[in-house]
Amino acid sequence: MTASNPPCPSSPLTIRVRSVGPTSTLDLGAAIAAALEPGDILILEGELGAGKTHLTRGLARGLGLNASNVSSPTFVLIAEHHTPQNPNSRAIPLIHIDAYRLLGEDLDELGLAEARPDQAVIVLEWPSRVEPWVRRQDPTRLLRVELQHVMTNPDQRDITITLPAAIANRPHAAGLLAQAQLQSAKNSATTDEPDEPPRQWTTCPITKKPVAPDCPTWPFVSEQARLADLNRWFTGDYRISREATQDDLDELHGSP
Ligand code: ADP
Ligand code: MG
Repeated sequence: MTASNPPCPSSPLTIRVRSVGPTSTLDLGAAIAAALEPGDILILEGELGAGKTHLTRGLARGLGLNASNVSSPTFVLIAEHHTPQNPNSRAIPLIHIDAYRLLGEDLDELGLAEARPDQAVIVLEWPSRVEPWVRRQDPTRLLRVELQHVMTNPDQRDITITLPAAIANRPHAAGLLAQAQLQSAKNSATTDEPDEPPRQWTTCPITKKPVAPDCPTWPFVSEQARLADLNRWFTGDYRISREATQDDLDELHGSP
């Protein structure tokens, strides 16, 4: 965030996403990774088969790691991933923990401390099994993702991401907002009726200017107008728990 647009929002940010299939969950994991830094802890909640490990694969990809190595570490407990996707580029290491079989044990005593967690992103499945350890962690570095089955469709999940303000305010977290919004647009395109009527000339809901049917950002007049349409967060698959501020818009416009 630049000096021209403080102050930063101080409340946590909650994003609700409807994943329409495994690929959509992978993409979301990669988008979350873009907001992360070494030392962050991502807590994954959801019943068996909800997609926690699947989201972790996307996260690994987004951290620049070889995601094919990520599997459910239920029997391994703590799995470390260091191998970059591309040998010439940098990757943030990932420590993937599945606490399903634990009952209040201390993760530090189980070898986590030696894995240098300050230099990696930690992903923790089944946090309720190690609640005392979770409570000891710095809340400003703790993100929470909850995945829930959608009863009407076995390939869909409702995913809630809660970011502490300290992470939501990072300049690179704006990419997560933009990516999630793009995914929202893609999802609605996927679920649209196949015989959608042809596009017409329309009026951009942000600028009120006419938009041609072949405009790549239709129904918005420009990319900037599309990103500014944070209304989707309140009315579509996405919602933010606080009002979008000018800071959010500035971040989005400044993002690549
Ligand atoms: P968990 O780690 O929560 O127990 P996994 O990620 O191991 O769950 O497994 C999730 C399973 O559900 C995978 O077989 C995956 O292909 C399937 N699946 C179907 N739809 C989705 C979706 N939208 N998101 C994630 N996984 C999905
Ligand atoms: Mg799992």
